[in-house]
Amino acid sequence: MRKSIVAIVGRPNVGKSTIFNRLVGERVSIVEDTPGVTRDRIYAEAEWLTTAFNVIDTGGIEMSDEPLLVQMRQQAEIAIDEADVIIFLVNGREGITAADEEVAKILYKSNKPVVVAVNKIDNPEMRNEIYEYYALGFGEPYPISGAHGLGLGDLLDTVIGYFPKMHDQESDDETIYFSVIGRPNVGKSSLVNAMLNEERVIVSELEGTTRDAIDTRLNRDDQDFVIIDTAGMRKRGKVYETTEKYSVLRALKAIERSDVVLVLIDAETGIREQDKKIAGYAHEAGRGIIIAVNKWDTVEKNQNTMKEFEQKVRANFQYLDYAPIVFLSAKTKKRLHTLIPAIKTASENHTKRVPTNVLNDVIMDALAMNPTPTVKGKRLKVLYTTQVAIKPPSFAVFVNDPDLMHFSYKRFLENRIRDAFGFVGTPIKIFARKRQ
Ligand code: GDP
Ligand code: GDP
Repeated sequence: MRKSIVAIVGRPNVGKSTIFNRLVGERVSIVEDTPGVTRDRIYAEAEWLTTAFNVIDTGGIEMSDEPLLVQMRQQAEIAIDEADVIIFLVNGREGITAADEEVAKILYKSNKPVVVAVNKIDNPEMRNEIYEYYALGFGEPYPISGAHGLGLGDLLDTVIGYFPKMHDQESDDETIYFSVIGRPNVGKSSLVNAMLNEERVIVSELEGTTRDAIDTRLNRDDQDFVIIDTAGMRKRGKVYETTEKYSVLRALKAIERSDVVLVLIDAETGIREQDKKIAGYAHEAGRGIIIAVNKWDTVEKNQNTMKEFEQKVRANFQYLDYAPIVFLSAKTKKRLHTLIPAIKTASENHTKRVPTNVLNDVIMDALAMNPTPTVKGKRLKVLYTTQVAIKPPSFAVFVNDPDLMHFSYKRFLENRIRDAFGFVGTPIKIFARKRQ
């Protein structure tokens, strides 16, 4: 189910990133182990009591050349577009400034709930100073101290109270939710539009979970699909849409709700760092993945071109070795019809369960072929293996000592499982667990 999104807006230095870090805690500082992937500290998961939600620090979305005021306006607009609830952060030591009023003006125009948090109220005596912030016009201001972690509980109680009631549409297991992600201008909108024109069987446009989102339901061969269209993909024109951080934000949001994602690459410009970053997030999130190379019409071809490009993709996205690659053109519609079947296959594999007895036969054969390693005189013993989850398929391997199961042996077992059962288009996870 989709998590609600909270955006923090406010002028520079009011403490947005301090609050962001407080809310998301350890989660952002997790060191990436996926090569080529670095984490942007602008979007992360947080939790308050039993509610999980996502937080955006709009201050992290820099529009390089723009004057400060313009940047702040755009950040407020992004918050309005993307968030379910907005925390409008001000500095309790400086009073309301002209810049705060500028932000307020934009937030008034939205119909999203806005909660004012007055930061840097580091001690109780200062709490009397917050009343002037009623003048911002968003009701009760909440005194907090990001530095000392004060007042966040009351603030979050109110924020969570505004979360929309989620309809259960997305827990529908039969429907395949997918999205198209990629950096600006790779052709995401063109591809979605082309697919929608191609498919004669569109059932309905679904009321999205955010104001501007238009999800489209389609049906092919008795299978329901929903194309997740985060706000504006088919209704565009905002300046900030071409900024890199924003495109990452979009991708993260789409990944969150998808079973399968199409990672779109532009054959004309070739592979960029940003492509790897976006694909890395999808991999990390455990979604089904298809790599689609768009604008194939622009490439001058001979009989080796496709193979060479494929090798380039494989070299750049080594961790996505399970993802099929489709070469296509949203413009000429070439090979567009192969996408839905590829998505269906990836989804089937993403939800596949394999029988325990067959799985254990496969693991036994693997052990016979490549005996377990010995670390400091101690040999890894594999007792049995069982599939513990789907989306993505996850396997628990019960062993004498999980520390003896190194990455390379895990990788070997993963490859044997893949050889036996397929799993094209989906990551799989393997955990070593101590036998009780
Ligand atoms: P941003 O630009 O809005 O993201 O602001 P930062 O989170 O970078 O904070 C700006 C400055 O304010 C930093 O020096 C923080 O240490 C400081 N700061 C943040 N929260 C508090 C607070 O609750 N009390 C005090 N005294 N300083 C704070
Ligand atoms: P988005 O930012 O990823 O949504 O990209 P758009 O769909 O807006 O496409 C960016 C540009 O690439 C537009 O000028 C499109 O017309 C162009 N484009 C998209 N797909 C193709 C394609 O398959 N071939 C060619 N030649 N151009 C394409």
